[in-house]
Amino acid sequence: MLIGIPRESKPGESLVAATAKTVSQLTNLGYDVIVESGAGDLADQPDTAFTEAGVRVGTTQEVWAADVIVKVNAPTDEEIGRLKQGATIISMMAPGRSPELLDKLQAQGVTGLAMDAVPRISRAQSMDVLSSMANVAGYRAVVESAHEFGRMFTGQVTAAGKIPPARVFVVGAGVAGLAAIGAASAMGAIVRAFDVRPEVAEQVESMGAQFVHVDMEQEVSSDGYAKEMSEAQVAATAAMYDEEARAADIVITTALIPGRPAPSLITAETVAGMKNGSVIVDMAAANGGNAAGTVTDQKVVTANGVTILGYTDLAGRLAAQTSQLYGTNIVNLLKLLTPEKDGNLTLDFDDVVQRGITVVRDGESTWPPPAVQVS
Ligand code: NAD
Repeated sequence: MLIGIPRESKPGESLVAATAKTVSQLTNLGYDVIVESGAGDLADQPDTAFTEAGVRVGTTQEVWAADVIVKVNAPTDEEIGRLKQGATIISMMAPGRSPELLDKLQAQGVTGLAMDAVPRISRAQSMDVLSSMANVAGYRAVVESAHEFGRMFTGQVTAAGKIPPARVFVVGAGVAGLAAIGAASAMGAIVRAFDVRPEVAEQVESMGAQFVHVDMEQEVSSDGYAKEMSEAQVAATAAMYDEEARAADIVITTALIPGRPAPSLITAETVAGMKNGSVIVDMAAANGGNAAGTVTDQKVVTANGVTILGYTDLAGRLAAQTSQLYGTNIVNLLKLLTPEKDGNLTLDFDDVVQRGITVVRDGESTWPPPAVQVS
C-alpha cells in the first residue's frame, strides 16, 4: 500500500506527520511512501531529507491518491473530498467533539483512525500522541515563561550579591504538568505543584517539586456529608490557589477535565494580587483556560504587570522534535496494524487499541467504541 504524507493545511501549523527517520521505518513495514513537497519545511525536514531516505516527494494530488493518508490535524472538507473510496486516513480528530467530521468521512466511504483516541492503557503508550505533545508542550511552557520573566530561575550567591531562585507553581500534574515541573526544577527554580488527584504527589516529588496539600477541616454531618465536604474542599482549594499564585513568580496551569471546558482556577482577584513581573502560562487556553484574563494564542499584560500567555501551539514551537515523536507514534501504530510487515494495513476489532481508534470503518460509523478498562 502507498502511504501519503500531506503538507498540513492548518494555518500556522509547523508539524509534519513523518520525518526522514520514520519514513524509513514505514518502508521497512513494506509500505511505499510519498511525501508532499514542502510538508516538512517548518520541522527541519526539507524535501531532500525525504528523498535521501529513499521515498518519493510529490504533488498534493499525488499524495492524496494514496491508500493511507497520515497527517497531524483532522482533514478539512476539501481534503476529505480528495480521499479515494476505501482509503484510510490517520490523524488527530477529536472524535467526541466532531460529529460532522465523522459524518463526512462516512459519506466519503473511507476508514478513519483517530490518533487522539488511543486508549490510555500501558500497552498503548508508544502510540499516545496526546502524551507526546503534552510532554513537549509542558517543557516549552517553562521556556516561554523564562523568556517573559527575564530573570534567572536558579538562585546564586555571587560577589555582586545574592539572586533568589524563582518560585514556580504548577497546577495539574498530568503529562504536561510533570514535564513542566521537570524543566523548571532542572533550571533551578523552587517548584510547587497541585493536582486534584492526590495519588500523583509521589510523581510530583520524584520530579523535584513539592506537592501542595490542601488543609481542610473535617466536617462530619449526618445528612449531605458529601456535599458539605465538597463545598469545604472547594473553598480550601480556592484559598490555596490564591496563596500559591500570589507567592509565585511563574504559574503554569495545565488542569483539564476530559470532554469538559477547563476549570476556572486562578481568579481575576488572584491575578490582580500577583507580583509585578510574574508570568502565567495557561496551557488550558484551547479549552477555555484555567486563569482569568487568558486570551487564546495571545500574550496579555495586566494592569499590575502580570504577563498571561495563552499560546496553544507550544508543542509546535519545537516542531522538529514533536514531529519526530508524532511520527514515531505513527510507526508504532502501523507496526500493530501491519503484523505481517507486508505493507498491508489490517484492522483487528478484537484488539482494544485498534477498536478504540477506529471512528469510521469503510464508511460505517464505529464511534464511540466500547468502554476500555484503564490500566
Ligand atoms: P489531562 O491533560 O487531561 O489533565 C491534566 C491534569 O489536570 C490531570 O492530572 C488532572 O488530574 C488535572 N486536573 C483536573 N482538574 C484539576 C483541578 N481543578 N485542579 C488541579 N488539577 C486538575 O491529563 P493527562 O496529562 O492527559 O493525563 C492524566 C493522567 O492519565 C496521567 O497522569 C496518567 O496517569 C494517565 N495517562 C495514562 C497514559 C497511559 O497509560 N497510556 C497516558 C497518558 C496519561
